[in-house]
Amino acid sequence: MAKHIFVTGGVSSSLGKGLTASSLGRLLKSRGLKVTMQKLDPYINVDPGTLNPFEHGEVFVTDDGGETDLDLGHYERFVDESLHRDSNATAGSIYQSVIAKERRGSYLGRTVQVIPHVTDEIKDRIRRLATEDVDVVITEVGGTVGDIEILPFLEAIRQFRKDVGRQNVCYIHVTLVPYLGPSGEQKTKPTQHSVTELRSRGIQPDVIICRSDRSISAGLKRKVSLLCDVPVQAVVSCTDSPNIYEIPISLHEEGLDDYVCELLGFDADEHPIDLSAWATLVRRVESAERPVRVGLIGKYVNLPDAYLSVVEALRHGGFVQGVKVEIDWIQAEEVEGLLGAGRLADLDGIVIPGGFGERGVEGKIAAATYAREAAVPCLGLCLGLQVMVIEYARNVTGLAQANSREFDASSPHLVIDLMDEQREVVDMGGTMRLGLFPAKLMPGSAVAAAYGAELVYERHRHRFEVNPRYRSRLEAGGLVCSGVSPDDRLVEYVELPGHPFWVGTQAHPEFRSRPDHPHPLFVALVAAAADRAEGRLPHLIDVSEVS
Ligand code: GLN
Repeated sequence: MAKHIFVTGGVSSSLGKGLTASSLGRLLKSRGLKVTMQKLDPYINVDPGTLNPFEHGEVFVTDDGGETDLDLGHYERFVDESLHRDSNATAGSIYQSVIAKERRGSYLGRTVQVIPHVTDEIKDRIRRLATEDVDVVITEVGGTVGDIEILPFLEAIRQFRKDVGRQNVCYIHVTLVPYLGPSGEQKTKPTQHSVTELRSRGIQPDVIICRSDRSISAGLKRKVSLLCDVPVQAVVSCTDSPNIYEIPISLHEEGLDDYVCELLGFDADEHPIDLSAWATLVRRVESAERPVRVGLIGKYVNLPDAYLSVVEALRHGGFVQGVKVEIDWIQAEEVEGLLGAGRLADLDGIVIPGGFGERGVEGKIAAATYAREAAVPCLGLCLGLQVMVIEYARNVTGLAQANSREFDASSPHLVIDLMDEQREVVDMGGTMRLGLFPAKLMPGSAVAAAYGAELVYERHRHRFEVNPRYRSRLEAGGLVCSGVSPDDRLVEYVELPGHPFWVGTQAHPEFRSRPDHPHPLFVALVAAAADRAEGRLPHLIDVSEVS
């Protein structure tokens, strides 16, 4: 029977609860246990698909087309397992199921209440993940203890212990231990309060993970242990880390996985830990030295979480080859002005990420043109491919007014459009292409070389496609559609022969990149960018010698 770990957060949001949970997932997996993870989100949206990235960061897409919280991206990257739409449940989706059952008459006329009906539904979502082959389910409860919306979730996880037995459940509370400059002290009071709040809901934490900008002393651990009624080895220090992939190692050094295994009755001798592969990875991240500057042309550059998986995939693509990717966040709307001022000249590579809506699109198109003309390696992701196609149509094939139906439905050349059957569907929500789709790659193309395969699967999340009516014209103009759907209807990849790397994909490859299996397209982009950076070096040396 699967064991359950519940992770709650106290004091403040953005404590890195997701990273902490993921890191524990990695540690347990490194002990040979089969781990799966889940996020319960107390907000009312049915899924994060419609949430503004400004507020919630990126929407992470699973193989089965679930639009989920970005923490699932951390889970996948750390635990190296593909999750599913069921791995994320919001209050909205839970209420939706309960209300649907009520409408069907499944409650036989009884009054439908938070306890037991909503809590039963929450428990059902947790139980669904505890399949035969799983040893441990780690469930992170979003939000902070003390929030109004979180109450049904706390009640459900409290009941869960009784349902499956005390020995099968472990509660981990992640809290903040702030350092107060003026008094020069780390304070445990907020932790005490949040543990008191958790207890008032009937949950006594088994483990308290103290997040802080500096490590927690033995004395402070004893204090937390005394006041929060947990053994001292259950108080774990987790300090801010510049390299997130180091967190599992530091939590292991704090004894977290040993203690959790003991609590859940996993025999440490039967499940010895092997962290050598992960430690090698961490060393690789830290020893990556060759700097490469990649411009990320985005709409939400003030909120890097909006492009979390893209940034991680770039880093993975870098450290596997000893390259340290430095991201230059470029506001899409400013690209034209920056180009005029020559301010993009020091970029070694460009990424044009996905996005929705018209704002900033012309800047992204200008960036694609610049990359093409100046031979700067460039990778377009989803909307990125679409703007590459628009730029090529406008500037190379003579369709000066080419556009996408998303931005200008009156354009005479809709090179990016809805497919005919989609246009008939009125409800836009229903027309999105979501989840894993196959693509055939053209032998000898840059993408086939990067993947080392001719049939690949990637995750998608978009409505618009390259318009098949313009494909032959674009191809006649030199654009190579180097990957297509197996039925040849949809363009999945475009590229430009003779360019160091100018590749667009209709998919979101960033969602499948893992630190230990970096995604081939990001590896190829970073390799091309590193070549450019190094190619420039002699030139720079010449200049300095002259001056
Ligand atoms: N807005 C574009 C579409 O819907 C691209 C979406 C994306 O980049 N995820 O087709």
